[in-house]
Amino acid sequence: KLFNEVQEAKGNIRVFCRCRPLNKAEISAGCSTVVDFDAAKDGCLGILATGSSKKSFRFDRVYTPKDDQVDVFADASSMVISVLDGYNVCIFAYGQTGTGKTFTMEGTELNRGVNYRTLELLFEVSKQRSDTFSYDISVSVLEVYNEQIRDLLATGPTSKRLEIKQASEGSHHVPGVVEAKVENIKEVWDVLQAGSNARAVGSNNVNEHSSRSHCMLSIMVKAKNLLNGECTKSKLWLVDLAGSERLAKTDVQGERLKEAQNINRSLSALGDVISALAAKSSHIPYRNSKLTHLLQDSLGGDAKTLMFVQISPSDQDLGETLSSLNFATRAR
Ligand code: ADP
Ligand code: MG
Repeated sequence: KLFNEVQEAKGNIRVFCRCRPLNKAEISAGCSTVVDFDAAKDGCLGILATGSSKKSFRFDRVYTPKDDQVDVFADASSMVISVLDGYNVCIFAYGQTGTGKTFTMEGTELNRGVNYRTLELLFEVSKQRSDTFSYDISVSVLEVYNEQIRDLLATGPTSKRLEIKQASEGSHHVPGVVEAKVENIKEVWDVLQAGSNARAVGSNNVNEHSSRSHCMLSIMVKAKNLLNGECTKSKLWLVDLAGSERLAKTDVQGERLKEAQNINRSLSALGDVISALAAKSSHIPYRNSKLTHLLQDSLGGDAKTLMFVQISPSDQDLGETLSSLNFATRAR
């Protein structure tokens, strides 16, 4: 309830900034930290640029390298729960490759991320509400690469092209995509692993491939109110975006050039949609990329959106860090 009031006061887009720790390679190379967390508790982040100049950014939350997966999820959980109340929700991680997008969303087996914790929480809350509601939860896992949609839960040959269709009641969906019904948290981990493993198929370097594609987990919730028979359908998107870094011009030729152009196109389309929403513009350009078209139901309207902007603390990444923080600032 309180959360909804805060939402109304501030609009439906939240931006959380998360900075990873310096890694071993950076430490042994003598890299220094350019991020100042003195005011992190107030949502402020300082970036020490060249010399003594300092740039400040303000977000709804700032996570330091000391904050763990539990701290991060604690702040996202109220938004997650609202999908059970009929809201569409979108949570995505934006940032340069290597800044922790996958760590935040997928996490690791010992340090599970937002995706797993979200489903765990949805099962827990739906159980608490089982006297009044019955919930049907299913998941799809998609990848968008070079403006093409791939179903990561599909088994067997998948030659058909997946396209986005709009249903008569207005919602968007991809006909033919596997929607795996999940009944409990044990099933979830298997489904998430299957999706993650399918990403590797057909690519000779998994990490490189995943840094150039968007990985999109969609959770569909059908709720039935047992007291009055009312049914609602809502959707939660959890998205691990392609790396936002600009490639050096000399690296970009042939296939890589096409990938880079498609990534730029979809991330700038996302930025355009978010700033149009923040500006309450009358035209929201959802159709400019597969990514924004897929997310359309969960961006804008009364949908709730949460962006994690992921950054590196290292002086070597300063340029990309500033560009990510500027991107995220467009939303506020
Ligand atoms: P991305 O998906 O943005 O390319 P990753 O999630 O793969 O980045 O993170 C890169 C590396 O940094 C991984 O080894 C990951 O485990 C580690 N890492 C990222 N964020 C954190 C964090 N907050 N705490 C500890 N390790 C992290
Ligand atoms: Mg990743």
